[in-house]
Amino acid sequence: MKSQDIRSKFLNFFKEKQHLIVPSAPMVLKDDPTLMFVNAGMAPFKEYFLGNAEPKSNRITDSQKCLRVSGKHNDLEEVGYDTYHHTLFEMLGNWSFGDYFRKEAIAWAWELLTEVYGIDKDILYVTVFEGSDDADNLDMDTDAYDLWKQFISEDRILKGNKKDNFWEMGDQGPCGPCSEIHVDIRSAEEKAKVDGKSLVNMDHPQVVEIWNLVFMQYNRRANGTLEALPHKHIDTGMGFERLCMVLQGVQSNYDTDVFTPIIREIETITDKKYGKEDKTDIAIRVISDHVRAVAFSIADGQLPSNTGAGYVIRRILRRAIRYGFTFLDKKEPFIYRLVEVLRNKMGDAFPELKAQQTLIENVIKEEEASFLRTLDQGLILLQKVVEETKGDTVSGEKAFELYDTYGFPIDLTALILSEKNLKLDEKGFKAQLEKQKNRSRSASETSTEDWTVLVEDEVEEFIGYDALEANVKITRYRKV
Ligand code: ATP
Ligand code: MG
Ligand code: MG
Ligand code: MG
Repeated sequence: MKSQDIRSKFLNFFKEKQHLIVPSAPMVLKDDPTLMFVNAGMAPFKEYFLGNAEPKSNRITDSQKCLRVSGKHNDLEEVGYDTYHHTLFEMLGNWSFGDYFRKEAIAWAWELLTEVYGIDKDILYVTVFEGSDDADNLDMDTDAYDLWKQFISEDRILKGNKKDNFWEMGDQGPCGPCSEIHVDIRSAEEKAKVDGKSLVNMDHPQVVEIWNLVFMQYNRRANGTLEALPHKHIDTGMGFERLCMVLQGVQSNYDTDVFTPIIREIETITDKKYGKEDKTDIAIRVISDHVRAVAFSIADGQLPSNTGAGYVIRRILRRAIRYGFTFLDKKEPFIYRLVEVLRNKMGDAFPELKAQQTLIENVIKEEEASFLRTLDQGLILLQKVVEETKGDTVSGEKAFELYDTYGFPIDLTALILSEKNLKLDEKGFKAQLEKQKNRSRSASETSTEDWTVLVEDEVEEFIGYDALEANVKITRYRKV
C-alpha cells in the first residue's frame, strides 16, 4: 500500500465515523507563544479541550505536521542514528471533543489496524495506565484494560507507569491516562535471539510504539492538583511514517516510500550507496529527514534566521549540510535539489509545498552556499590552528574563536582534530561558551502585549558537540 493510500484510508475511516477531515495546521502557531513548533496533533486544538473555543465539529480527523526539535519533545539527536524518530513527521489523529470516549476510541483503533489495514493481531500489543500512589492517587485504568480484553489476549496488555501512560500537556492543562499500541516486527531470527518469556523487548528498533490514545479527563491546576474536566475528550496520535513501515513490510521508516525517492536522489547526486556503510547511511538519513523539516517549515512561512524558531531551522539545515560535507563529500549545494522530489511525493497532500517550491529551493540553496563558504574558510583557519598547536591538545579558546567568530561548528572541529590524532579541550571550550552566555544573558523581563515572559530555558547539559551547538533559548510565556 502506497503511503498516500495509507494516509487517505485513515482519514476516510474516521470520516465514515462522522469525523470532519481538516487540513494540518501550520507548524508555527502564531497565536500560541507557549510553543515554538507544533509537536503533537493536539496542539492546534488545545483551546477546545480547555473549553475556551468551540470546534467546527465535535469529531475531527487530520494528519498534523509535527516538529520535535525543541522544548519538552526534542528528538533531534536520535534522528539519523535510529530508524524511527524524525524531526518532522506526520501525526494522524482522531479527536472527540466531549463526544465519544474510551469505548469507541479503542474499538475503532483496533478495527482500523486489524481490519482496514490488515495488520496481524499477533504482532500487536498495548499498554494501559497502572495507576499511581503519589499525591494524585490515581486508580488503574481498568476501563481500558477491560475494553482491550475483548480484542487482545491479556498477556499482550502491559501495565505502564505515569511517565509512559499518563499524558500531560505540560505543567498545567488537560491530561489523562493513555493507552499505547506497539508493534513487534522483529524477524523470527531476531525474536529467537531474545530468550525467555518476555513478550516484547522495548529497546529493540523493530519494537515500536505506533499509536497513542489519550483519554483526556482531568485538568492539572496551577497548584498541582487534578480536577475532573467538565467534559471527556479523546486525543489520539499515530506516527504516519511508522505506520507505513509496518504496512509496507519494511524494518525502517527510511525504507518506506515516504523516504526512498529522496534517498535515491541523494544517491544519484552524491554517487554514494545507501545500506553499505554506517556513516554514509546516517548522513543520508539525516539529510533526507532534515530536508523535509526545513522545506515544510519554509512553506509554512518560517524561514531560517538568527533568532527563535528561524534559528532552530537554520541549525537543522546546517546539520544536514555538515553531514553531506563530511560524510558524502559534497562541497557544493545539493540539498535544495531534493525539494522537487519531496514536492512530487507530498505536494498533493500538502499543497503548500507546490505553492512555495521556488521559494523553498532558493532559500535552501542560498543557505547551503553561504554555510559551505563558512566551512571552507573554517577549514583553512583550523589547519593553521593545527600547525600552531604544540602538544596533542587544541585549546578551548582557539576552538571557541573558530566557533564564535567564524561560525565553524564545534563538532566538525572535534571530528577533524580526531582524524589528525589531536584532542580538543572540551572543558575549556565549554567554559568559553558559558562566559559568552553570561555576557549575553539579558536580565530584564520583556513583555509583549498581554503576554509576559516567565522564564528563559536553556539546555545547559553538555550531551555532545552537536547537542551543545544546537542550544537554543526557548522562551515561555504565560497570559496575564
Ligand atoms: P517514542 O516513545 O517512540 O519517542 P512518544 O511516546 O514520544 O514516542 P507520542 O508523544 O505518544 O510519542 O506521539 C504519538 C505518536 O507519534 C507515537 O506513537 C509515534 O508513533 C509518533 N512519534 C512520536 N515521536 C516521533 C518522531 N520523533 N518521529 C516519528 N514519529 C514519532
Ligand atoms: Mg518520544
Ligand atoms: Mg513513548
Ligand atoms: Mg507515546
